[in-house]
Amino acid sequence: MSGCYVSALELFSIGIGPSSSHTVGPMRAAADFARHLPADVARAGLRVVLHGSLGATGAGHGTPDAVVAGLAGMAPETCDPRMVRGAWHRAAAAGTVLVDGRVAVPFALDDIRFAPLTRKPDHPNALTLTCEDSAGRTVLEYTYYSVGGGFIRRDGETVRSLPRGESTFMTAAELLRLAEAEGIDIAEVARRGERALRSDAETDRGLDDIWAAMRASIDAGLAAEGHLPGPLRVPRRAAGLRRQLEAEELGHPRGAEWLQVYALAVNEANASGDRVVTAPTNGAAGIVPAVIAYFLDAHPETGAVEIRSFLLTATAVGSLIKANAYLSGAEGGCQAEVGSACAMAAAGLCAVLGGTPAQVENAAEIAMEHHLGLTCDPIGGLVQVPCIERNAIAASTAVTAARLALHGDGHHIVPLDAVIATMRQTGLDMNSKYKETSTGGLAVNVVEC
Ligand code: SF4
Repeated sequence: MSGCYVSALELFSIGIGPSSSHTVGPMRAAADFARHLPADVARAGLRVVLHGSLGATGAGHGTPDAVVAGLAGMAPETCDPRMVRGAWHRAAAAGTVLVDGRVAVPFALDDIRFAPLTRKPDHPNALTLTCEDSAGRTVLEYTYYSVGGGFIRRDGETVRSLPRGESTFMTAAELLRLAEAEGIDIAEVARRGERALRSDAETDRGLDDIWAAMRASIDAGLAAEGHLPGPLRVPRRAAGLRRQLEAEELGHPRGAEWLQVYALAVNEANASGDRVVTAPTNGAAGIVPAVIAYFLDAHPETGAVEIRSFLLTATAVGSLIKANAYLSGAEGGCQAEVGSACAMAAAGLCAVLGGTPAQVENAAEIAMEHHLGLTCDPIGGLVQVPCIERNAIAASTAVTAARLALHGDGHHIVPLDAVIATMRQTGLDMNSKYKETSTGGLAVNVVEC
């Protein structure tokens, strides 16, 4: 039986804001399309159609910029975010897009079209890219699905599955049985999944890079002043709160209030289109870094070993949710994004605070249970309100969930598997107004100024 484990280096991917499914995924899709264009055919034009949720809120999420950047050969991991912002209008003003960084193809603003009412059957986040030659013949046409967390799938492709090691599990119950039978913790179960892919040293390097990028996104958010981009003119709060706390603490160790400030900082960096780590999505990118930073503040004697253990434990929980429900707001609403991130962070924190596998499972369950039914209704289609503050609240919930679980012995009424199944069913029942389309909830009840 194959398991559900997704590598930590894929689940936590270094990218740019503001959205993993609307920015990172479309950029990867466009880059893949550019790589597949035959070199020997004269390309006279490009057309891109953003379907469903990408069409509904793509403009606010910077999807057209991301598509043009991807066509030009940029990658979310390595690009300069400043080169992505405004790429759509710059290419249209120049009249060309440099596909794969090599071939200039004519390009106009309306070569990217928004089709919010066209919902592809396979996934609500879809984009179709077409290239034509000078005779108007289609040279290449691919449809991609941006399936959440920056993952993409090309139409007609089977879902890529990662190589599996011995440590296979499909449910939390199996994960716990595995840990118990082998006498290992959940991070070690995850480590065995990573071992099927690369050496421990390579995995550790990747995990350390992920934490370095998370830390950098916290620092960037703590330093930035002013307002977030976009018509809402949302004031940044992280830098002001940092100054306030530093003045109050006067050189004392950082207290618990920093937890929320860290989360705000990351999500403000994300809303600005800066570099962040999908954890497991961009909209929910602040929760895991905030909880790790909070843990390090409280336990300054700890370091890389605990951070790796935190991330691996969180990955095992994220893998369960990805396999058995969703990690995408367009599929399951915000319960799938912020709820999943909260469960992952709670599990990671519980583990590094000495929790048993049963307590870790309990922590994840508590964190997810109290996000069930949470809808996605970002105002103006921007990953700002309610997203940024929601990360700060969920970071607190993750800490509470870990502490509650640590006070118990791992026994509890609702298994994590049942909560994940409930999240999936709730997502299926949820009206599409509440799935990243900005056509319901706060998005329609708050007037944009
Ligand atoms: S409301 Fe939640 S799911 Fe929707 S964009 Fe914001 S963080 Fe993502």
